[in-house]
Amino acid sequence: MAQSYKLRLEISRWDPDRSKGWVQGYEIEAGGILRFTDVFRKINEELDPTLAWNSSCEHAQCGTCSVLINGRAMLACELLVENAVAQFGTTRFKISPIGVAPVVRDLVVDLEHAYERVHRSKPYVIKRVENPLKGGEYRVSPRTLDRYVEATRCINCFCCAAVCISSNKGFLGPNAMLASIVRMMDPREGEKKERLKLLYSERGLYRCHTSKGCSHVCPKGIDVAHFLALAKQGDFQGGRPAERR
Ligand code: SF4
Ligand code: SF4
Repeated sequence: MAQSYKLRLEISRWDPDRSKGWVQGYEIEAGGILRFTDVFRKINEELDPTLAWNSSCEHAQCGTCSVLINGRAMLACELLVENAVAQFGTTRFKISPIGVAPVVRDLVVDLEHAYERVHRSKPYVIKRVENPLKGGEYRVSPRTLDRYVEATRCINCFCCAAVCISSNKGFLGPNAMLASIVRMMDPREGEKKERLKLLYSERGLYRCHTSKGCSHVCPKGIDVAHFLALAKQGDFQGGRPAERR
């Protein structure tokens, strides 16, 4: 039987009706294989139905449950209690909302607001080029395909943006940059000039200091900082200079 832990959670609360913020402590017994979203649910059921938090798929695929746990941006649905205790070496956890958008209530942030930065980077094919193979497939090299697959694992959880030291300085953010870099690799995209303009704009790649915080926290294991560093050099394929377009 899985071990049980007596947890002490200090959760940042925000009541928009009273414009009041405070930190609320909860003590709760939780099984080691509960995820933090389960713990929040347990708090709702046993201690406090007013605690607000966000989740949707609870399978680490939608990116809506990101929070800061002891200062680290993580998906609450992915973190088991026993792993958290082992990782942080404590049963006490400070939990706060990711600071990428205004707080709606408690741990819930305005994701629509956060997504504005991603939308600015146009995460879609702006102008489709005609398939040169007439009805066949668009071709990419195996190397580019590997990188494309890695980059498209992004679920826009904003964990990277939450830890990025440049996020508050006008930078569109690591995930927004990655969304545009993906389309630079996409053989269907015919509007590369506009993309380059955006990537090298005042709010673009050169705001990044290559501190690698983004890569460190990405729950999908994407080396975001490496993508950005190569893109700064005009390399979107991950190839040697001779292979660049
Ligand atoms: S790059 Fe990683 S950390 Fe950043 S939004 Fe995508 S999945 Fe989340
Ligand atoms: S490497 Fe760049 S994008 Fe990533 S966290 Fe650091 S400054 Fe932000």
